[in-house]
Amino acid sequence: MSPATSTTESQEHRDLRAAVSALAHRHGPGYDRAALWAEAGKLGYLGVNLPEEYGGGGGGISELSLVLEESGAAGCPLLMMIVSPAICATVIARFGTDEQKRTWLPGLADGSLTMAFGITEPDAGSNSHRITTTARRDGGDWVLTGRKVFVSGVDIADATLIVGRTEDARTGRLKPCLFIVERDAEGFGRTAIDMELQAQEKQFELVLDDVRLPAGALVGEEDAGLLQLFAGLNPERIMTAAFAIGMGRHALSRAVAYAKERRVWKDPIGAHQAIAHPLAQAHIELELARLMMQKAAALYDAGDDAGAGEAANMAKYAAGEACVRAVDQAVHTLGGNGLTREYGLAKLIAASRVARIAPVSREMILNYVSHQSLGLPKSY
Ligand SMILES: Cc1cc2nc3c(=O)[nH]c(=O)nc-3n(C[C@H](O)[C@H](O)[C@H](O)COP(=O)(O)OP(=O)(O)OC[C@H]3O[C@@H](n4cnc5c(N)ncnc54)[C@H](O)[C@@H]3O)c2cc1C
Repeated sequence: MSPATSTTESQEHRDLRAAVSALAHRHGPGYDRAALWAEAGKLGYLGVNLPEEYGGGGGGISELSLVLEESGAAGCPLLMMIVSPAICATVIARFGTDEQKRTWLPGLADGSLTMAFGITEPDAGSNSHRITTTARRDGGDWVLTGRKVFVSGVDIADATLIVGRTEDARTGRLKPCLFIVERDAEGFGRTAIDMELQAQEKQFELVLDDVRLPAGALVGEEDAGLLQLFAGLNPERIMTAAFAIGMGRHALSRAVAYAKERRVWKDPIGAHQAIAHPLAQAHIELELARLMMQKAAALYDAGDDAGAGEAANMAKYAAGEACVRAVDQAVHTLGGNGLTREYGLAKLIAASRVARIAPVSREMILNYVSHQSLGLPKSY
């Protein structure tokens, strides 16, 4: 399914969408992740949001989310776009030192470097105020200790941006600080988690066992706290919405094509409203989710971090739910074939749940909207 034919998008955005879609369809669902990543990077798509002086396209999350949506709609979602250019490069571009910018941004922009992002901890989960990964000063160095879980793509990333807290801010409200930890740093151990997902990117449990880092590994201010972190987390939510919308569109287009061809009575099954209406509903829900995603991206790109926060949460929620429903209906539309490997939809049943859980769960978004938007009291 392509986006609605009438669009409020600029010609530039439509051209970018068409170019990425053509590239992604050339690779298709049987894609080689590294090959697609390299090609998309070379063409400037992975760094479309980054400053031009560091080799980026000078655009914003509006453009980057469009790239991820189109790659997903062609069945080859570039998951690491959610973390590498969207979170890590954004945070470095906004708060990093000149040296960090020179070292990382050109490579993150052209895809020759990739950065993972680790915030989730086994004992903190959704409550990131409870993270305990701790950074202590030792002379001019930092020494990092802690554990992370479910961190995507650590094996294929050159470094991971780790969210910790300093020793003197170990308790109380989270005052996060961000460190670049290179893949082979001593004491930085990783174990792949045995996930049911059939994705090309793996999730890892990480152990940081007295990882010694130079002073220059700290991104931004030690005390800049949540502001810095949210500069990366809002793009992450917007990009997760793009990931979900892309996957939903991919599933829906497969189902629609099947419903037009498959006949078990006189007419194709797509003529039965029990098949047609849920597909139409899925299409509407994906379109609505995209509208909210575009609003969130526009607010973020305009520098309205607070406004973008609410919209990014709503977009992630809407896209995650729309994706789960689109995949469910797509699988059902194919009958038995929905569960065969050949048609490639059954694996999306697990994959589509990701956007409902990560990076912030459906319930935590409902909590946010209850408290922040509606002013209702908190239960926890
Ligand atoms: C495929 C995948 C990739 C990921 N990649 C990364 C990554 O690259 N980097 C990274 O740091 N993390 C990553 N994550 C982790 C992800 O962000 C977490 O799984 C997510 O934040 C939820 O945390 P949790 O799994 O500990 O669930 P929990 O926090 O244990 O939540 C379990 C359930 O309880 C509910 N719940 C919790 N608190 C409340 C409450 N107050 N009110 C109502 N309901 C509540 C939740 O909604 C959820 O349904 C990834 C996860 C997945 C599945």
